[in-house]
Amino acid sequence: MHHTDIAIIGSGPAGFTAALYASRANLKVVIFEGTQPGGQLTITTEVENYPGFEHGIMGPELMEVFRKQAHRFGAQSRYEMITHVDASARPFTLTNERGEKTTADAVIVATGATAKLLGVPGEQEYMGFGVSACATCDGFFFRGLKVFVVGGGDTAMEEANYLTRFAESVTVIHRRDDFRASKIMVDRAKANPKISFMLNATVDEYVGTTVNNAKKLTHLRVRNTVTNEIVDVPADGAFVAIGHQPNTSLFKGMLDMDDVGYIVTTGKSSYTNVDGIFACGDAQDSVYRQAITAAGSGCMAAIDAERWLEAQHSA
Ligand code: NDP
Repeated sequence: MHHTDIAIIGSGPAGFTAALYASRANLKVVIFEGTQPGGQLTITTEVENYPGFEHGIMGPELMEVFRKQAHRFGAQSRYEMITHVDASARPFTLTNERGEKTTADAVIVATGATAKLLGVPGEQEYMGFGVSACATCDGFFFRGLKVFVVGGGDTAMEEANYLTRFAESVTVIHRRDDFRASKIMVDRAKANPKISFMLNATVDEYVGTTVNNAKKLTHLRVRNTVTNEIVDVPADGAFVAIGHQPNTSLFKGMLDMDDVGYIVTTGKSSYTNVDGIFACGDAQDSVYRQAITAAGSGCMAAIDAERWLEAQHSA
């Protein structure tokens, strides 16, 4: 059976930063890259808010740089999905989808979160070409344009407000006429002259075209949830803001989590309730969810794990 000092589960900015720091500390590191090697940034286009890249960088390219930098110091990537973690004894035993086992003295959970999507036609096709699940990441590209936000929670209200900095108009599309969002957030959105609302409405399809070999969203096919009437609404952008799901089901019953499934870490650290298992990135962050904050917390997890391992060896 293969043994490693630190097993990192997840390969987004958090996982690779943890791998970089841990391997530079001379630890043997294996990164289990999972089903989406490189994580959420591999499904975005241009990233302009990652410090160090003055002119921006494409998401997949950025993650390739992360990977190469971690590999340079000896971290190894395994393109496997961990399906089970046995934390009942140390070293921990990780099992992949083929039943193969790896043992590790410490585990860093960097499994991220997944933005919930509507799952309707055109959504995957125009993701990054007008459709987005992150206003902070992509709002800037919609200067002077007509955009929509789907959802009726606090995220939808916050993203709608944020997008008014750039967009000419922002329309919130919500499937009911009552909001899940807090009153203060709804009131703020309603008071913003650039924001309007389409209530009892849902997007049935994203419609677009191809201009000079580039895909481009042009319309939303919107259905009234009461009358079922369908209209095509011209749209330059659509931000899906119907919540996120942390990818933490593997650790249910093992690691402490909040109601939604975000892993609870202790104080300002990456320590979980299980000694030797550390958590970082979006799997434990429901608030910031940015590549740079995930990378920062990956660094914290590597330092915590390194110090914890040292304490074990000297005990
Ligand atoms: P929520 O789960 O609170 O809201 C999701 C919204 O999306 C709901 O309005 C829901 O509609 C709608 N929705 C869900 N699925 C679909 C679907 N398939 N089709 C159409 N609409 C759908 O998620 P949020 O991300 O908004 O918030 C998550 C947590 O983070 C909350 O606790 C929130 O308070 C918090 N938060 C706080 C902020 C702040 O205080 N500044 C900012 C952002 C988030 P319906 O209501 O009909 O179910």
